[in-house]
Amino acid sequence: MTHARSTPEQFAKARAAMVKTVADEVLWTNRYLGKTALDPRVAAAFAAVPREQFVSAELAEFAYENRPLPIGQGQTISQPYIVAVMTDLLHPEARHRVLEVGTGCGYQAAVLARLVAQVYTIETVGELAKDAAARLKRMGIDNVAVRHGDGRMGWPQHAPYDGIIVTAAAREVPPALIQQLAVGGRLAIPLGEPGGDQELVVIRKEADGTLDRRSVLPVAFVPLVKGG
Ligand code: SAH
Repeated sequence: MTHARSTPEQFAKARAAMVKTVADEVLWTNRYLGKTALDPRVAAAFAAVPREQFVSAELAEFAYENRPLPIGQGQTISQPYIVAVMTDLLHPEARHRVLEVGTGCGYQAAVLARLVAQVYTIETVGELAKDAAARLKRMGIDNVAVRHGDGRMGWPQHAPYDGIIVTAAAREVPPALIQQLAVGGRLAIPLGEPGGDQELVVIRKEADGTLDRRSVLPVAFVPLVKGG
């Protein structure tokens, strides 16, 4: 493990180790995922984002452990494995426009920003939205638009989206998000009870408008709340 004042080289080494840990976990969980490895583009994007810059200085030394970490306001940055898997489930392409619900610290958005043309992300906690926007700007990431609001309504102005990712758990898929999903697009969302059983679900909108729904993995997410 690295210590509190890790150098950029130590962080880079720890990041490479995390990438390997996640690749191993993808392999072990291949029966759930239906694949033994991440899309190479996704793996490369994931390997390139400095996760230590998305947590407080006190937690930076833990940034490359494969677990969620607190980001303030009672919220968490998701476990790296989950970020990688959810990103992969969207089948991101360079021309895509993606909506994220639950910006948190902006880490997932930063990973997506390397893979698609434009990311729109909504966060219900004003302070987190403000901090994430400032952090992404500081890092020179200019294809992520952050908004403070209730992501359950989506972001209709920029719809339809080729991918929608919800990083907080809901009992049901918010209907606005289905509406704002493009034909051929994919929506990844944890569904289930707050603090209880949840499953990561991926929904694809077919050409005839029908929804193809697949349950991927058991997961544990903070709840998608009303507000914004
Ligand atoms: N993707 C984030 C992890 C987010 S944790 C990251 O990479 O760090 C889930 C986030 O969803 C929390 O920040 C929480 O405040 C937010 N959230 C919960 N309900 C929401 C809603 N209705 N609209 C938008 N954001 C919401």
